[in-house]
Amino acid sequence: MKARRAEPALAYSAAAILGAAGLLGTAESALALGATFSPWAGIAAIPLALAALTLGPRLPRAVMFLFAPAGVVLIGIAMATTEGYSDAAILYCWPILWVASFYGSRATASVIGLVAVVHAAALWSLPEETTSFDRWADVVVSVIVAGVVVRVLARRNRRLVHQLSTEARVDPLTGLWNRRAFAERLETESARAVREGTSLAVVAFDIDHFKRVNDEHGHEVGDRVLKWVAEVLAHETRGADITARVGGEEFVVVLPGTGVVGAQEFAERVRRAVAAGGGPAELTISAGVAACVPREIEHDLVDAADRALYAAKRGGRNAVRVAEVEPAACSAG
Ligand code: GH3
Ligand code: MG
Ligand code: MG
Repeated sequence: MKARRAEPALAYSAAAILGAAGLLGTAESALALGATFSPWAGIAAIPLALAALTLGPRLPRAVMFLFAPAGVVLIGIAMATTEGYSDAAILYCWPILWVASFYGSRATASVIGLVAVVHAAALWSLPEETTSFDRWADVVVSVIVAGVVVRVLARRNRRLVHQLSTEARVDPLTGLWNRRAFAERLETESARAVREGTSLAVVAFDIDHFKRVNDEHGHEVGDRVLKWVAEVLAHETRGADITARVGGEEFVVVLPGTGVVGAQEFAERVRRAVAAGGGPAELTISAGVAACVPREIEHDLVDAADRALYAAKRGGRNAVRVAEVEPAACSAG
């Protein structure tokens, strides 16, 4: 499996944090703006910031993670070389916020653990009169709180993004995939069919005279009919099939690994089930079938199924028609 690359926001935020810490540390020690400490930790942060900026987006995420422990160690060095009291421990929050935003809870816990150890070592190295247990505990408890809060928010964001992306792909009335999801799934399935040399079938359905259902029984019954047709389709399809509502009363089913005979049988089963009744209103449905072993482009198959569907409509409806698929779109078989 290929290592996942660091996303640009992850790399550039690491660069910004390290760059800011580096400039702050270097400027404070150069201008003697407060406590005296070694400028080396700040100076070392600058090439790290440049590395994150230039190489970051090309590095694997797992490698970029190492910037967090590197930052913690540099802050520890700055703490250990500071004479007298220093507020530099606040900087430990920066790598914690970064790691908690971009990595998981375990990664965050490991960097918090490192802060606890590095900060203890830094305080240990300082003269006894300037150190105390509460200097350590305040910092460790603060980074735990910061880490937990950001992890909770990051997980909630992920859940919301996942929920929104699902909602953007599902038809709210029938619970089937919508046109957008259908296009994505069809692309995946036709790429698979091209790769594996397997057959792919598309069946386009359109309810006959649906306008009349609405006119005679009302829109609410029309909606119930759409839901019922979706249930019929769900009942007749298998797990690997992709069923979508692509328009008002238009449905498309992609049947991976299915040839023209199987797809025609499926379309007939659906047509008979709809005509047999049992739904909120009497109705019929027409279908167009197209199948082939695709060589390249999936849209040919959807167009062909649509043309067959309209041939079924022209032929009097309540019928299934099979498309003549251009041999150019299919290999032999
Ligand atoms: P044909 O047999 O030629 O397909 O005729 P048709 O009446 O089914 O086709 P037409 O395209 O003329 O009408 C489709 C109707 O579907 C028109 C529109 O009011 C209705 N419709 C579209 N979306 C919805 C919906 O979400 N709910 C309901 N109840 N009706 C819808
Ligand atoms: Mg229509
Ligand atoms: Mg119709």
